[in-house]
Amino acid sequence: MLKSEYPDPADIAFLNPAARTGIVYDPVFLKHSRSDHPERAERFVAVLGRLKETGLNEAVRRISSRPASEEELLLNHTGSHVRRVRSASGEGEGFLDPDTYVNSFSYDAARIAAGSLIDLTLAVVRGDLENGFALVRPPGHHAMSDYAKGFCLFNHVALAARAARKAGVDRIAIVDFDAHHGNGTQAAFEDDPRVLFMSTHQHSLFPGTGAAAETGKSGTVVNIPLPAGAGDGCFRALFGEVILPLLVRFAPEMILVSAGYDGHRADPLAGLGLTCSGQAWISETLVRSARQICGGRIVFTLEGGYHPAALSAGVANSLRALLGRDDFEDPIGGAPRSEPDISALIAEVKRMQRL
Ligand SMILES: [Zn+2]
Repeated sequence: MLKSEYPDPADIAFLNPAARTGIVYDPVFLKHSRSDHPERAERFVAVLGRLKETGLNEAVRRISSRPASEEELLLNHTGSHVRRVRSASGEGEGFLDPDTYVNSFSYDAARIAAGSLIDLTLAVVRGDLENGFALVRPPGHHAMSDYAKGFCLFNHVALAARAARKAGVDRIAIVDFDAHHGNGTQAAFEDDPRVLFMSTHQHSLFPGTGAAAETGKSGTVVNIPLPAGAGDGCFRALFGEVILPLLVRFAPEMILVSAGYDGHRADPLAGLGLTCSGQAWISETLVRSARQICGGRIVFTLEGGYHPAALSAGVANSLRALLGRDDFEDPIGGAPRSEPDISALIAEVKRMQRL
């Protein structure tokens, strides 16, 4: 891996000390990579390049990155899982399951992703920041307590929620708009009435879980499995009729977002129909809801997204939303196309949630 392939980290300054929107990033995220795998460093190169082109990197405040401690990892993972990731990574290139690779940087990258998201979340809990975006790799939402899955080694969003709970936050909502079901996060909290987990994802896509009937033992799991082709119109309907009313009813003290951009219509790994404009609307709606419900406390963490231009525009638009801006970009566009009718699905979820 040639250093010159990557932007010099010194070139990517996130340097607005007065900003109320934070970002975490570490150059090690560029080193967990495999050229024949869709979840590779080039995703990040595209995002960093776009943030620099737009000047968004200078509009946000960078929070120091740091590895999660073993004690923190054990908040959501077993000791044997932590040891397995560490030793597999220590051995160099290999796979923990058929989809999930490691290299010699992976243990550090995953620990730093988790520790950095924890610190960003706690900065928002303390009120040092209003909100933030964790620009991290690998993704986390498929990682289970005892095994790696779906490109994910440690479940960063679950670890951040547990750290926030430890810091005194009683009620947390996690919204996962990645095209794949956030099965690891659901498993972490399905018995916990103080965490509302809501996932929108494409039905029957990997990992195959996330049926509407999976509501958790406490009824605080909400799954919305969407048919292929569901796009901006479907998301506007289900946010309006399901997600926002449930957020208001649950009244969380903060919102964490598993922000996956693979719901974009151009994404090679999924078949949903969102545009960059639709994804920007989702971000803006979540940020606005956080202002109305929980003092603006909302933190996004990067999950999937495998089309470089869609991913980088998606991250840029989420940052704009967090900054309270509406100058969203849609470099790919997409004419409105007919979307599947999801009214029966929305009615089913509303009935199960007694909305
Ligand atoms: Zn995904």
